[in-house]
Amino acid sequence: MRHIVSEKELHRLVRELARRTRHEIDKAEIAMDDFDGIAHKYDFKFAWQEMSLDKDGHYAKGVRIVTLNNRVMHLERRNFSFCHEFTHDRIDCDDALCEIIHEFTIDMSDEDMERLIERLCNIGAAELLIPSEDVRQVMLERGFSTTLISELCERFGASSIAVAFQMVNCASHDCYLVIAENQLVQPTAVHNQISLLNIKPINVPQEQLVIIYSGASSAARYSIKRNQALSNNHFLCGALHANEPVRGDARLPFASGNGWDVPCEALYFRGKVFAFFNRTQPMSNLQMPLF
Ligand SMILES: [Zn+2]
Repeated sequence: MRHIVSEKELHRLVRELARRTRHEIDKAEIAMDDFDGIAHKYDFKFAWQEMSLDKDGHYAKGVRIVTLNNRVMHLERRNFSFCHEFTHDRIDCDDALCEIIHEFTIDMSDEDMERLIERLCNIGAAELLIPSEDVRQVMLERGFSTTLISELCERFGASSIAVAFQMVNCASHDCYLVIAENQLVQPTAVHNQISLLNIKPINVPQEQLVIIYSGASSAARYSIKRNQALSNNHFLCGALHANEPVRGDARLPFASGNGWDVPCEALYFRGKVFAFFNRTQPMSNLQMPLF
């Protein structure tokens, strides 16, 4: 195997690219939510399109078209998705970085490679919206907790999704991030079984907590699949509409169903549940000297 850099180094390179890009956008006085303005400056095409609700957007390589799902109404989600797709384009236009990624992924399966690229684009998107240095500094001062999300959003005028991603990106311990929201889910297997028994199924969509984003710290070994509905008795459901973070042991929601219980902290904020699953202890509350 000929991995010339580590994955951590790849993260750093993408973060650097995003920082440079953000600097250019600020210098050109284009707002981060001016998608047409950014597309124009970087010479790619941008369009809205109606997609299924499990998709946020799409990037067409080669023809350089960023498409966003016009059915996603949440502004922070739209902004994050745009930055994610935009990072795909930024990476694709950077020949040196593409070469390094190519070397790194040469022995990988297509699936692993896609997962890596998705991780890199989420890292780039978060960095475009809020600098990791600022998040790292606040985490050093205050410790690692969901309570920082609202504070960081206000302090830096950033999106909660970007803040939560930056927190998990900057975390030095082994942890997973899950962002979930209540969605109407079409009944599936359970009702099909009932229909076999000749009982008329209730084909009414049910509200269920669905994972819309997931992330992992660099120390984490696995990844959590998006667009999974959590069971109604999952720990995260207890955080819905709560005013305070809820803490306790919770099952890691791996798609295989083989997750195990780890300490978890979940916060209901701006209509979503933000949860950190801490497989190892987060750094302690290292108070920086204030003088
Ligand atoms: Zn992507």
